[in-house]
Amino acid sequence: MTLIRFKASQEQDVDLSVTYDAVVVGSGAAGGMAAHVLTSQGMKVLLLEAGKKIDINSELRSMEWPYDHPRRGEAPPGYHAIRFNEYNVRKPPYATKSAFKHVFSYVGGWGGSDYVKNILVDEKDHPYTGTKYAWVRARLLGGKTNIWGRLALRLSDYDFKGKTHDGYGEDWPICYADIEPYYDKVDLYLGISGHKENLPHLPDSLFQRPNKLTGSEVKLRKSLATMNRTVTPYRAGVTTDGVKNKYRSKCFGRGACGRRPGGCDIHAAFDSPTGLIYPAMDTGNLTLRTNSTAHEVLVDPNTGKARGVSFVDSQNHRTYEAKAKVVIVAASTLESARLLLLSKSRQHPNGIGNSSGHVGHNFCEHVMGPGVTGLVKDMVGAPPTLDDGKPGGFYVPRFRNLQDKQPGFIRGYGFEGGSGFSIFPDSAWDTPGFGGQFKKSVREHAGAFISMGGFGEVLARYENYVDLDPEVKDAWGIPSLRFHYEFSDNEKKMCEDMANAGKEMFEAAGVEVVGVDKNILTEGWSIHELGTARMGNDPKTSVLNQFQQSHDVKNLFVVDGSSHVSASCQNPTWTIMALAWRSCEHLADEFKRGNL
Ligand SMILES: Cc1cc2nc3c(=O)[nH]c(=O)nc-3n(C[C@H](O)[C@H](O)[C@H](O)COP(=O)(O)OP(=O)(O)OC[C@H]3O[C@@H](n4cnc5c(N)ncnc54)[C@H](O)[C@@H]3O)c2cc1C
Ligand code: SF4
Repeated sequence: MTLIRFKASQEQDVDLSVTYDAVVVGSGAAGGMAAHVLTSQGMKVLLLEAGKKIDINSELRSMEWPYDHPRRGEAPPGYHAIRFNEYNVRKPPYATKSAFKHVFSYVGGWGGSDYVKNILVDEKDHPYTGTKYAWVRARLLGGKTNIWGRLALRLSDYDFKGKTHDGYGEDWPICYADIEPYYDKVDLYLGISGHKENLPHLPDSLFQRPNKLTGSEVKLRKSLATMNRTVTPYRAGVTTDGVKNKYRSKCFGRGACGRRPGGCDIHAAFDSPTGLIYPAMDTGNLTLRTNSTAHEVLVDPNTGKARGVSFVDSQNHRTYEAKAKVVIVAASTLESARLLLLSKSRQHPNGIGNSSGHVGHNFCEHVMGPGVTGLVKDMVGAPPTLDDGKPGGFYVPRFRNLQDKQPGFIRGYGFEGGSGFSIFPDSAWDTPGFGGQFKKSVREHAGAFISMGGFGEVLARYENYVDLDPEVKDAWGIPSLRFHYEFSDNEKKMCEDMANAGKEMFEAAGVEVVGVDKNILTEGWSIHELGTARMGNDPKTSVLNQFQQSHDVKNLFVVDGSSHVSASCQNPTWTIMALAWRSCEHLADEFKRGNL
């Protein structure tokens, strides 16, 4: 695209006249990790972040009670969070013609939109088109890690070698042994809480102190053990014993995690700014420029290699260039695909790194919706314990299509669940009554209700893809993404099984089932989008090699979830960071050898 270019911005103290060793686009889990690894290897790095840097602690206000807020946590009039039915009945762009001044994704309606109104993007400024999709975006320093749910899981060779196991899709170009040392590094540097289970399909991490299961959760664990299934304490990307990092403190067990979308104002839960970026800045090797939206990876016309990035200042709408010897794209799965597709040149007419035509394709994620709620009668009236304020409930790892073969679907799903760990129990919403009796009833039942919901693998399919909309643009004039994406029969069959299996497990444990949800949530709901620039050994069918390095352009790397070959059913963020660490270590070695 053609935009007028201005001289370096004077508003921010960033020198754009120098050529940096590397420019990193995006400051979330992936970009933060790239900044950490490269600066610790002595490289001079410029980090460009589209969003602003905000005083995150005063946004999150983790411990604020609803009654201390003038609107019980709601945003001021004029703000609206898109509802489930709107996603399904209307077509994107969802904010078009909305009477509200500001429109947010559904996460804005979860536990108080006042706390995320400056974190989530305003859909009015950031339209997308095509098939229905609940796209959740956080544009600020640290991206979605400021509000993520912190379930931190590893993948196994059941995931990396899925094709070998069941014949579908592609194997990853790495196996578990390749990434294991980097999972270990992430665990030790950032801290993770959990309990060892020795499961081949959900490898253990190097855990800090686990959260204790509640009485109801222990009951379910005991019962599932007889079915050869596991209930394990929530594996939380939270430091419970502390890490060597002056920007973070260990979890106080305040039970505040579940009160609203993520957000921990003492930073016991991992977030990219305090976990990765501020320590990287302390090395003296990192320069940060916020409000900087990359819209093109620039190419040297003589070599075809990347020579830097063109970006728009989101406040003054002017365009600038950042020069670098290596370009690292980490804008999150869909934004990274968008940037690659936007970067068209004579050498790369389909977008940079896209000679295979696979950029934007093989788009996958997790399907969710089905779940079960139950009541453990003998826990009604049980007194609270000091362990109740934990940052998560439990996880039931995948149990389908490991040794067995299900008739209706391939791959598997896990359940996230909990009982009575939150400062404000969900069951309060449906508890009848008011006043003292109401409070007594809520307290008595807090640990007795138990619920869990499934997260299943969506198969990576070439037909599920994003491309650039030929007409619609965002508020900065950058072409928007267009979705061509829907769940297949495999996901629908898997969801039927999720609801049935959840009910069976509760019944087997003697939990009274009070609700079974069979509905599938809108595509995108899991916020785990993956696969749009997949890795592989064959440059004809993949975009990146095993080090997330472009097959076409050797000084271009894409280090976020777009590189994932399949979605697995485990939450992706810990894998995103382990892979980025591995790739950036390789990058720094190659850089020192002069190979880039
Ligand atoms: C409410 C919620 C709950 C979640 N729960 C979990 C969970 O329990 N477990 C789990 O594993 N994952 C969870 N996730 C997902 C997790 O947050 C993401 O997997 C992770 O943040 C991805 O990291 P990323 O760096 O790819 O993207 P992001 O964290 O989104 O960061 C990308 C950054 O790039 C910036 N950017 C985008 N475009 C550009 C551009 N053109 N130029 C410059 N910068 C750009 C964005 O502003 C953003 O800061 C959750 C997410 C949310 C929102
Ligand atoms: S429970 Fe722990 S991780 Fe969660 S918000 Fe409180 S201190 Fe942070």
